[in-house]
Amino acid sequence: MKSFELYEPTTVQQAVGLLNQFGATVKVIGGGSDQIGGIMKDWVQGKGMPLPVQVVDLTTIPDLKGITVGSDGAHIGATTTLTEIIEHKDLQQTFPLLTQAALSVASPLIRNFGTLGGNINQRPRCWFFRGENFACYKKGGDFCYAVTGDNRYHAIIGGELCYIVHPSDTATALLALNAQAKVSSPSGDRTVPFDQYFHGPREDVLTENVLKANEVLTEVFIPTPTAGTKMAWTKLKDRQVYDFAVVAVAAAFTLDGGNWKDGRVALGGVAPVPYRAQVVEDALKGKDVKTTVKQAAAQIRTVARPMSLNAYKVDIAQGLVERTVLQALG
Ligand SMILES: Cc1cc2nc3c(=O)[nH]c(=O)nc-3n(C[C@H](O)[C@H](O)[C@H](O)COP(=O)(O)OP(=O)(O)OC[C@H]3O[C@@H](n4cnc5c(N)ncnc54)[C@H](O)[C@@H]3O)c2cc1C
Ligand code: SF4
Repeated sequence: MKSFELYEPTTVQQAVGLLNQFGATVKVIGGGSDQIGGIMKDWVQGKGMPLPVQVVDLTTIPDLKGITVGSDGAHIGATTTLTEIIEHKDLQQTFPLLTQAALSVASPLIRNFGTLGGNINQRPRCWFFRGENFACYKKGGDFCYAVTGDNRYHAIIGGELCYIVHPSDTATALLALNAQAKVSSPSGDRTVPFDQYFHGPREDVLTENVLKANEVLTEVFIPTPTAGTKMAWTKLKDRQVYDFAVVAVAAAFTLDGGNWKDGRVALGGVAPVPYRAQVVEDALKGKDVKTTVKQAAAQIRTVARPMSLNAYKVDIAQGLVERTVLQALG
């Protein structure tokens, strides 16, 4: 494994100052399970993705850890671990969708030290990207090996140039919960709704989100849902013990009688970003959810463009959307 210089700041300003100072050769870490235990150990690098010389540990900043739930919603610090999220009673009560999504991530060991910030900002799992010998677009190369290679787990929606699926389960849940990210840089803080946090390969194939080189995610805010909001999370994976999503669905919505009033349906495992299925939401709007959901879930077919080996994921996405919405209804 490549050696590196380790920095342990105690304030956010020190951390973003280090990012500003070192530029392209520095990386931040939360738990380090992906950056240190994956990317650097496996030498996932390329022209557009140099391995870091400096590593800034965010877990030494006390202000970045912790959960506060108030009347406006929940504030979760970026270095809060997934286990701390899962075990938090107020989150279980008000945001069971996030609790369930976090519980479906990886294994207990990884959840014990993997952080929310790290989970949201983890790099894709495309096996060509993770393979040392493939200089694909995402590493600054000039080819996408998934187009001609084994693409059974790749994108069925929104893939062009690069066909990754975003790997974060918590990000899919946060999108359905209409959450916001607080982003800090040397010049101050900004708030980015999760609707706008991730971007596809056309915007920038080398990155998956809007963070600039000198910015970090410092906090996630989830607004308190309207009373009576229905929520559910489902995730289909190949290997039950622990695995990334083949398809995951997060639903959060309100009803007027039995009719869909307002809400969101988000999918993981299908697109380069956590994907908001507005085609499904539009088909449900104002309609009786129980009797319309099958037809609404089929709308996912209108936006799907499967690759050579993954058309099966379109059927799964349709079935899982229907199942998740019905599960939320109880
Ligand atoms: C075997 C295995 C199975 C897994 N299964 C799943 C799964 O089913 N679902 C799922 O969602 N994930 C899964 N993961 C991913 C795992 O959850 C993540 O590795 C973990 O959550 C990342 O947390 P971390 O704090 O260790 O990340 P780190 O390795 O510290 O960071 C990951 C990335 O995010 C960046 N980063 C970290 N914190 C911040 C921040 N605050 N601001 C900006 N950038 C930041 C780092 O620079 C790095 O690029 C799996 C991982 C493994 C190894
Ligand atoms: S899907 Fe993206 S990450 Fe995978 S090989 Fe193609 S360009 Fe690289």
